[in-house]
Amino acid sequence: METVSKINELREQVKAWRQQGLTIAFVPTMGNLHAGHISLVTEAHKHADKVVASIFVNPMQFGVNEDIENYPRTMADDQQKLTAAGTDLLFTPKPDIIYPKGLAKQSFVEVPNISDGYCGESRPGHFRGVATIVCKLFNLVQPDVACFGLKDYQQVQVIQIMVEDLSMPIKIIPVATIREESGLALSSRNGYLTAEEKATAPALYKSLQWLAEQIRAGYAQQDSIDFIGLAKQAAKTINDAGLHTDYLHVCHAQTLQPASEDDTQLVILAAAHCGKARLIDNLQVNLA
Ligand code: AMP
Repeated sequence: METVSKINELREQVKAWRQQGLTIAFVPTMGNLHAGHISLVTEAHKHADKVVASIFVNPMQFGVNEDIENYPRTMADDQQKLTAAGTDLLFTPKPDIIYPKGLAKQSFVEVPNISDGYCGESRPGHFRGVATIVCKLFNLVQPDVACFGLKDYQQVQVIQIMVEDLSMPIKIIPVATIREESGLALSSRNGYLTAEEKATAPALYKSLQWLAEQIRAGYAQQDSIDFIGLAKQAAKTINDAGLHTDYLHVCHAQTLQPASEDDTQLVILAAAHCGKARLIDNLQVNLA
């Protein structure tokens, strides 16, 4: 696998592949790679001739109180994992190559409505940063398809809508969440957990599973389902386990609006603090 950090090097390689009639799949990441990231690379291979990955800890998507400096950076290890997964090209730009004028003067992409709630509310500006870097990386890599993890469910919706609204000729492939045996979703932020916190963190996904079961049971019995009441109970269980719930809502799977009686395609979205880590997770519930 070749690693490039300059824009012209990336463009030259992409152009050469294009001239040979090859298709390109893209996997953007912030590095500190785990099996979840690698599953995106594996999926990417199914959709194109060449796979390009990027590692860029994007300052635009971090808030003022979020600790970008301490975000884990493990480049040599990441390169090994990407090589083993058969990645063709890795792009590792420095921030001044991506944002040469600085963030304050940078044009941005904002995807309205879908970016507002949940993680968008807890992390103001986060999805503007995500949409802007993904748009920029799309313009640099010009992939045919791009793979994104469903662990970041709201992010996938934001990217899908950006691509549709701005007529980008790129197919977005959502990829299932990879979890530990305990159910805890793999995340670079799990590295912030102590051994004790690691034991309590799976309570988040367990509560989502409990909530999904209650919804399914209510639907099967044709009961009216109290989404808000059930979500409150699930949040309480998470808090009782020693985490601190940021949000937990049952939503329409596409619009992410609060679920209503008639919705059959649902997603439970949640975020919870566990020690220094802010964990996010979700669970889709298809009733029909
Ligand atoms: P990140 O490096 O955290 O920005 O993540 C890069 C990509 O990997 C995003 O599309 C994430 O949704 C995806 N990803 C992160 N964790 C997982 C996981 N546990 N399973 C599948 N995909 C994941």
